[in-house]
Amino acid sequence: TDACLSAIEGAGALNAFVHNTPEIAREQAAAADARIAKGDAPAMCGIPLGIKDLFCTKGVPSQAASGILEGFTPEYESTVSQKLFDAGSVMLGKLNMDEFAMGSSNETSVYGNAVNPWRRGNDETALTPGGSSGGSAAAVAADLCLAATGTDTGGSIRQPAAFTGITGIKPTYGRCSRWGIVAFASSLDQAGPMTKSVRDAAIMLEAMCGHDPKDSTSADLAVPDFEAALTGDIRGKTIGIPREYRMDGMPEEIEALWQEGIAKMRDAGAKIVDISLPHTKYALPTYYVIAPAEASSNLARYDGVRYGHRAKLEAGDGITEMYEKTRAEGFGHEVQRRVMVGTYVLSAGFYDAYYNRARKVRALIKRDFEQVFADGVDAILTPATPSAAFGLGEMKNADPVQMYLNDVFTVTVNLAGLPGISVPGGMDRQGLPLGLQLIGKPWEEGELLNCAYALE
Ligand code: GLN
Repeated sequence: TDACLSAIEGAGALNAFVHNTPEIAREQAAAADARIAKGDAPAMCGIPLGIKDLFCTKGVPSQAASGILEGFTPEYESTVSQKLFDAGSVMLGKLNMDEFAMGSSNETSVYGNAVNPWRRGNDETALTPGGSSGGSAAAVAADLCLAATGTDTGGSIRQPAAFTGITGIKPTYGRCSRWGIVAFASSLDQAGPMTKSVRDAAIMLEAMCGHDPKDSTSADLAVPDFEAALTGDIRGKTIGIPREYRMDGMPEEIEALWQEGIAKMRDAGAKIVDISLPHTKYALPTYYVIAPAEASSNLARYDGVRYGHRAKLEAGDGITEMYEKTRAEGFGHEVQRRVMVGTYVLSAGFYDAYYNRARKVRALIKRDFEQVFADGVDAILTPATPSAAFGLGEMKNADPVQMYLNDVFTVTVNLAGLPGISVPGGMDRQGLPLGLQLIGKPWEEGELLNCAYALE
């Protein structure tokens, strides 16, 4: 904990931590020492962690990197962070992210972007750590903490993990409680660990998940021993390679990365099969209807009354002006864009054309996966992202759809509610890390982690 606290102090330029909690960390570390001395220490005991700012932490500012939550300090602890603390983990502080987890580069944060500790060769251009869990990824990659929490609505654990050379797993929807995590798109959001290895991911995931009566979508299932599943033996497993993920214009190095991953799994004794997930091409448009729709509803609560920021009002301003001014000042541009898109697709005149249509296509995307798993596929291997980390500012002012394209390999997993993991798979020509994604069957995180372990 002391080593991490001083590393954090020396790494201000990465802008990974947005709020440090050294007193809490030292207190929790002392308690962990006492537990270890008594011989009552689970694996996570004494492990110093960073917590994404999307998690509500009791008595500690929790702003979801948004101006609208300025000054908000929750009275309660999120279930996931509470479980980690119950297991003896130590909180070093809160981590940077895209505002309300909307983004792929950490550039929508009210705190400014976090920075990727990696560089392209000798080129000094600062790169994005990815998003939305960019602070989590940068902090783990730069050894500011041993692991971090992330959340993933459309790829926000897996894409930043890939961009920074670490491991990140999004479990099955319902595996982790969403209680106390600021909601973005409730039918897609899941928490997960971001770690230095698959083994760490297995250990930390086990501590984070489990049924929670406070989240009706959390599954009432026993939590398996994920670490015990890591045998490294994948002989006889069937790994599906989806032909629809071979996109036009995919960079050669991403194709090469994928081929290397395939070869590695084949060498380990897995059977490689070509599969088809025919509705893949509709995943991005479907996600970018459903996620904003749910976000517009979830973000309606930021009204200047209940939480955080309230705009200064002038004489004669009524409640409508208060809402308008507060929301115009408190939300950044990307969040405002999503609220407008979401409100539009849910409006009486367009509900059937957009939201309802997207729900139906979502069911088809889910069915594609059910079909290949029913046909005997154990896991699916794809690249995690269509490129390595890009330069900060490079995409910021581009057409927002360019940024959305980053999520092309990851959003299907959230739409189908499946577990997905990104593991480091190699380097591009400029020495930047690239990630491979494995997608698993619902509730089979153990098997998924074991396949990733074989690939690691
Ligand atoms: N990049 C995606 C988005 O902007 C995913 C974000 C996430 O998973 N939280 O919506």
